[in-house]
Amino acid sequence: MIDAGQTSTQPAGMSSTGVLSRISRVAGRLAGPFVDLVLPSVCAFCGEYHQPSDSLEFNRDSIRLCNDCVGSFLKDTREACHRCGRPVGPYSSDTTAGCVICRPTRQRYKEVIRIGTYDDELRTACIRSKSRGSEPLAAALGDLLFCEQRERLQAIDADVIVPVPQHWLHWFTRPHHSALTVGDRLSKHLQIPLRDGLVHKVRHTADQSGLNRASRLKNLHRAFRVSPLRRVAGKRILVVDDILTTGSTANEMSRALRTAGAKHVAVAVIAIVR
Ligand SMILES: [Zn+2]
Ligand SMILES: [Zn+2]
Repeated sequence: MIDAGQTSTQPAGMSSTGVLSRISRVAGRLAGPFVDLVLPSVCAFCGEYHQPSDSLEFNRDSIRLCNDCVGSFLKDTREACHRCGRPVGPYSSDTTAGCVICRPTRQRYKEVIRIGTYDDELRTACIRSKSRGSEPLAAALGDLLFCEQRERLQAIDADVIVPVPQHWLHWFTRPHHSALTVGDRLSKHLQIPLRDGLVHKVRHTADQSGLNRASRLKNLHRAFRVSPLRRVAGKRILVVDDILTTGSTANEMSRALRTAGAKHVAVAVIAIVR
């Protein structure tokens, strides 16, 4: 695997592997999924090609990631808290009601499901999946989330999947919305309808990344509103985002959904910030 933070480079004196990778990549852009029938898949993260037999389990679900990249995303094998998603120690007991960190906090969503923590290669992948032309990477991460957490995602028994919305102004400045792409993949795998538009972001808010916890809460206060045209009462809802940082966004989304009568709100993300 090449360094996770870099795109694939072609060495001087191109090897047959490099030639095949280049052909597959270019052809993939031109002809899309049809090329997979005749050429190996290109990993959406490192850009290297991989044969379907490399990773039969994952290819069965059409994940466009190579074994090395999948391994790097899943290298943290610690148990996660059922409620907040943070890693917990090996001797932690049932965390359905939370861990020592999240139990004292008021959390409006019931549980968090994720691939891993926002570190190393998974962090790089999350950042890159927001950039222009990176829909295949966001989709591949959504596929991996499903494969890794299939049982828990199915156990939610959600009625609808709702991606965390962005304010309409962001559609002009952000090339694509990775939460929507991840939500779309989960919707297809779980056979649960995706309801983009069930919740609107009604206020344009400051970028959360530079704010502390208190400022984040204030920044997002009542920023989300459930569409009056949609019935939410009694529904079980799976909220999808790419990264869970302090949980402020998920909490505000959940507050809006619970106020509208939602019975259960769970959150699925690619990575969680420890
Ligand atoms: Zn790869
Ligand atoms: Zn916890």
